Amino acid sequence: MQSNPYSWIESSLSTIHKANWYRSLKTIESVPGAIIKLEGKRLINFASNDYLGLAGDERLIGAAIQATKEFGTGSTGSRLLTGHREIHQELELEIAQLKQTEATLVFSSGYLANIGVISSVVSQRDLILSDEYNHSSLKNGAILSGAKIVEYSHNNIEYLKNKLEQERENYRRSLIITDSVFSMDGDLCKLPLLLDLAEKYNSMLLVDEAHATGVFGINGGGCVEHFNCTGKQLIQIGTLSKALGSLGGYVAGSENLIEFLRNRTPTWIYTTGLTPADTAAALTAIKIIKKEPERRLKLWQNLEIFMNLLETENQLLHKGKKNSNYQSPIICFPLKNAATALKVGEKLKQAGIFAPAIRPPTVNTSRIRISLMSTHEISHLQQLITALINLNK
Ligand SMILES: *Cc1c(COP(=O)(O)O)cnc(C)c1O
Repeated sequence: MQSNPYSWIESSLSTIHKANWYRSLKTIESVPGAIIKLEGKRLINFASNDYLGLAGDERLIGAAIQATKEFGTGSTGSRLLTGHREIHQELELEIAQLKQTEATLVFSSGYLANIGVISSVVSQRDLILSDEYNHSSLKNGAILSGAKIVEYSHNNIEYLKNKLEQERENYRRSLIITDSVFSMDGDLCKLPLLLDLAEKYNSMLLVDEAHATGVFGINGGGCVEHFNCTGKQLIQIGTLSKALGSLGGYVAGSENLIEFLRNRTPTWIYTTGLTPADTAAALTAIKIIKKEPERRLKLWQNLEIFMNLLETENQLLHKGKKNSNYQSPIICFPLKNAATALKVGEKLKQAGIFAPAIRPPTVNTSRIRISLMSTHEISHLQQLITALINLNK
């Protein structure tokens, strides 16, 4: 018998190292933006979720400072006790307007929103159907719920339909869960088809709009708007931490759903309300998203420019790319293993590009993942292309 009950940690770490799965922190030393300073080096940033460049926006910074001066640094308690302020309500109203739903509820993070909502709306007697590429928060929410989980192969509607056909009648409630923009691959779920299936099999449908909010849809309402599915019965999750440049998560849906969650969701009830600073920054971001559609247009223009540049580079095309029809500002370049991905990430860094390797266990197959921002300039995109081409030399 081993004498040290903690000795497994060291051997576990060593296994992680051997598999090239080890992760470490990288210190960013500047305001978020298209250019960042990382460990003393100026890099063009293709690793950020700050799609609209709002995290460093003076107006968000100003709003956060103002709210902090007015309401303090912490909200001091759960929303149901001392943690609720008028700006929380204002934010929830703004999100409901953006999403065109009856109501919304904000959480301290998107992760907490997902695990809280999923585990509140289904339990042991129920069925969850989950896309295999779903975000960790959806997967862990499903596990926490205690429901029977059926994972369907990525975006495979036929497979999902068969599973519903076989399994649905054996359970009380049913919930389909999916990312709307898949976070590590950048492709989209087939929302209209999912809605049809949900209706046919009397199933709820939860979509995670983390990478879509503020980015997709004419008004920035997300993929639901993009697919013309606004107003359909759905549970929509999102984050305040990506295009909105702040911190927090939300759920949007019917008044009944929100009322139920306010009474039954532990990750909302038993945790401290969003800080005034985060709340005010997110509120300001939504107002900017509504007032300045040009930011979203610029992002999509950047994507088009990047695709065109890429297409003219045959060399790159030979390397093969996962999504030949890029559907979002998330673009992946598959690589053969974790070690190669790390090496490529390092080479790009030497070329002045920050585009890190994404490896198992985050994803099954290693890759370089690039995310574009509306604040990237054409010269930034060109430098990225050049750096990618030089990898082959
Ligand atoms: C980032 C992300 C989350 C988590 O949001 P946070 O606010 O960062 O906790 C949830 N779902 C998806 C798909 C994400 O990409």
